[in-house]
Amino acid sequence: MKFSDMGLHPRVLDALVPLGYERPTPIQAQAIPHVLKGRDVMGIAQTGTGKTAAFSLPIVHHLANNLMHGRAVPRVLVLTPTRELAAQIDDNVKAYAKNVKVRTALIFGGVSQHKQVAQIRKGADVLVATPGRLLDLCNQGLLSLEWIEFLVLDEADTMLDMGFIHDIRRVIAMLPEKRQSLFFSATMPESIVKLSKTILTDPIRVEVARVSSAAETVDQRMMFVSQGAKRDLLVQLLNQDEVETALVFTRTKHGADKVVRYLKKNNIRGEAIHGNKSQPQRDKAMNAFRNGNIKVLVATDIAARGIDVEGVSHVINFEIPNISETYVHRIGRTGRAGREGVAISMVNEGDERNHMRDILKLIKRDVLLMKDHQWHLDLPAITADFKTQNAPQKEGHTNQPEPRQNGSNKGRGSRGGHGPQGPTSNQPKRDKDSRPSGNRKWKKRTKFHGPKPQGDQT
Ligand code: AMP
Repeated sequence: MKFSDMGLHPRVLDALVPLGYERPTPIQAQAIPHVLKGRDVMGIAQTGTGKTAAFSLPIVHHLANNLMHGRAVPRVLVLTPTRELAAQIDDNVKAYAKNVKVRTALIFGGVSQHKQVAQIRKGADVLVATPGRLLDLCNQGLLSLEWIEFLVLDEADTMLDMGFIHDIRRVIAMLPEKRQSLFFSATMPESIVKLSKTILTDPIRVEVARVSSAAETVDQRMMFVSQGAKRDLLVQLLNQDEVETALVFTRTKHGADKVVRYLKKNNIRGEAIHGNKSQPQRDKAMNAFRNGNIKVLVATDIAARGIDVEGVSHVINFEIPNISETYVHRIGRTGRAGREGVAISMVNEGDERNHMRDILKLIKRDVLLMKDHQWHLDLPAITADFKTQNAPQKEGHTNQPEPRQNGSNKGRGSRGGHGPQGPTSNQPKRDKDSRPSGNRKWKKRTKFHGPKPQGDQT
């Protein structure tokens, strides 16, 4: 299917050309026709699947066909959990609506409301908002939601995780009953299903990827390392040529700041992005990262959700999340839109072993264990799980690999280039001379692993 087969307004189609969108992504192909028909939609899709355009394109199409005369009133409300995600959606809607007379207003807390109120006063058709500030403005009588025709709830699961449920209910209570509602969430726990029932009427359910399925293009690896050695390992990883830009995840804000300070000491330019940073600080860090002025962004989960930065080559889990789905969200920051990406998880000897084991159960995919670094720890319990729980997803990946003969590269794809050891501990050391000489990627990855293995690696 092509965008031009969907019946979208020609001005919307024209806007897609400079963006390089040639074909709809699966969530777009599934959702757009239903939204165009006026149906409520429940979309199960994670960030990176193209879900923003899935809801925005048919909405902009509708606005283009039904332009109001006079001062614009808000007709579309997009609710999102974070400021970053709101800003990103606002950018996207502006790009899709660039040939149509549609105005947007971006509304979020943590900054003065002055500019936002001015935007609303000028007239805005589309509001992209986080719930708290939106309610604030409504309660001050500065904004009315009585003309809303479309409600989009994006990343509903994150909103619930962040405790927005009451705010969401208050906002919904202010909306006209007759409206079209689009509800997107990466996961579908019972609480989300319950919430969706209060918002949607006879919805069509579209689903593209379960949360457990990480992007196909993400090469997932893990390293076992004690907590104390992680920062040195991180410095070493970041100094490899292969790492162009990296998003590093920590569990706490304080942890993120500490990592940035250590990187600076080691001459690696990075910035932290988390809830204690002011909006201008966050914007500055994001811009520096996007422009390539800094190589590393160190983020907590909440701050990073929804961030879409072109070309993040690596996601590094400096700490392993205790909620497995969070892992999938994190690694979804790389390997986007068909590009290759690498996700590396640093697993310590404490609770993280259990967290990683849960993650492996959820994702049911290969995660390569990289042992050839000087800080490698043996974590037998998880290694045993790792051997049995990761079903092969691609040709060349092995679940319980047979011990290979020296010199044999059988059963390994190009992505299996994870150094002489391979993904499990029971494999014999590869003979140096047996490296597939024509495989540049393999060489690169080998280099990526840094210093020669120390001690017993088998
Ligand atoms: P999203 O899941 O909405 O955050 O989108 C992820 C990325 O995919 C964004 O950078 C979009 O600009 C891009 N994108 C969305 N739809 C398409 C498409 N049909 N073709 C190419 N890129 C797309």
